[in-house]
Amino acid sequence: MNKKRLVIIGGGAAGFFCAVNAARLDPMLEVIILEKTGKLLGKVRISGGGRCNVTHACFSMADMVKKYPRGGSFLKKAFHHFFTNDTIAWFRERGVELKTEADGRMFPVTDSSQTIIDCLIKEANKYGVEILMNREVKQLTTDNGHWSLIINGGEVIQADYVCVASGGYPKPVQNNWLTQQGHRIEDPVPSLFTFNMPGNAITSLMGVSVEHVRVKIAGSKLSEEGTLLITHWGMSGPAILKLSAWGARELATGNYQFSIMINWVPAFNENSLREKFQQLRFELATQKVVNRNPFSLPNRLWEFLLKRSEVKEELRWADLPAAAQNKLIKNLCAGEYEVKGKTTFKEEFVTAGGLELNEIDFNTMQSKKFPGLFFAGEIINVDGLTGGFNFQNAWTTGWIAAKGLTRSNR
Ligand SMILES: Cc1cc2nc3c(=O)[nH]c(=O)nc-3n(C[C@H](O)[C@H](O)[C@H](O)COP(=O)(O)OP(=O)(O)OC[C@H]3O[C@@H](n4cnc5c(N)ncnc54)[C@H](O)[C@@H]3O)c2cc1C
Repeated sequence: MNKKRLVIIGGGAAGFFCAVNAARLDPMLEVIILEKTGKLLGKVRISGGGRCNVTHACFSMADMVKKYPRGGSFLKKAFHHFFTNDTIAWFRERGVELKTEADGRMFPVTDSSQTIIDCLIKEANKYGVEILMNREVKQLTTDNGHWSLIINGGEVIQADYVCVASGGYPKPVQNNWLTQQGHRIEDPVPSLFTFNMPGNAITSLMGVSVEHVRVKIAGSKLSEEGTLLITHWGMSGPAILKLSAWGARELATGNYQFSIMINWVPAFNENSLREKFQQLRFELATQKVVNRNPFSLPNRLWEFLLKRSEVKEELRWADLPAAAQNKLIKNLCAGEYEVKGKTTFKEEFVTAGGLELNEIDFNTMQSKKFPGLFFAGEIINVDGLTGGFNFQNAWTTGWIAAKGLTRSNR
């Protein structure tokens, strides 16, 4: 009996996961990976600062899907097929143990992404997956259930099944070969970036980190909490990255010109802070405001907020004028800062946008328009926050595609 051929476009996490699982599940399948560059698993290598944050120790699907600004409800269904515990077990069965850090991120115990790369390459070799590098797919056509892939240089490769695992493209034009093929793609915009604040006095505090703040985008409902880091170009840290992910599309529309309101003391709002100030004026009456920072904020930040509120250095708590107190309260819990531009966070950036989810069957990752065509990974319109969520999407959808296409090969 002739073997059927599966061609996978893209030698990244999703492509490899689909390839190795399909080859193992169905020995009657010839599996080929086409990779446009001369490197395999390039993002896995650099991910998580070279340690590869493989997944997140979250075992509740309902909680997990909250970490995906786009595609959460699609993944909710997909996770029933392959979830975090399956990822951990899959790697464990192949000799790769994962460990969990305090914040839930999971890494190989070796702290090296090479462990994940070696595991996937070994698995590909074991099941005879053929890997062809420097092959960029330029066009995809179908005729009566058979696929032709036109590669750079004019080479044509035939296939019975195709899995597109080409990752996120930053420019819409890069999706042309897929849209020409008949699929709809939501235009890409970057997610997970930091905020630029050129010339803003707050950047003089670069290096200051505040563990728990609330940041809100003025004029929107977008608000996030977490650690904030002041950098020499603006603001970064988990609170900012989360906000950038949830606001990826809205912020792109406004060309990254917006204002944020920061609550440096999120246990308080303006009213409760006013009450707290009454108490502080009494308790700390004779002490200088500048010397007594009652909110455990970094001293440099406290001094900055006092200056911004025109609280003079020699002032004692009891003598704090009402106008200065009002300004300080405002600056502590609703200080406004202008953002002018973004910087892509080098550690873990993803593309929001991609293949429209209503064109894919989540049970198989097969196109609803073209039988025999499957999708996996960041090419679909799913993206997560930092923390291992993007790789979990790659493992889940890669695995479902493998299972889906091996089922259809029977
Ligand atoms: C610096 C960085 C660090 C990251 N760290 C983490 C992390 O620690 N944890 C986490 O969960 N996520 C992380 N991410 C996100 C994560 O890497 C991606 O979401 C994930 O790699 C997506 O996998 P993929 O296989 O879908 O796409 P990719 O990894 O992008 O792979 C797609 C592959 O397809 C190839 N390709 C594209 N077009 C074609 C074509 N036409 N023909 C042939 N080949 C093609 C590309 O060259 C590429 O090799 C990080 C991202 C970056 C940029």
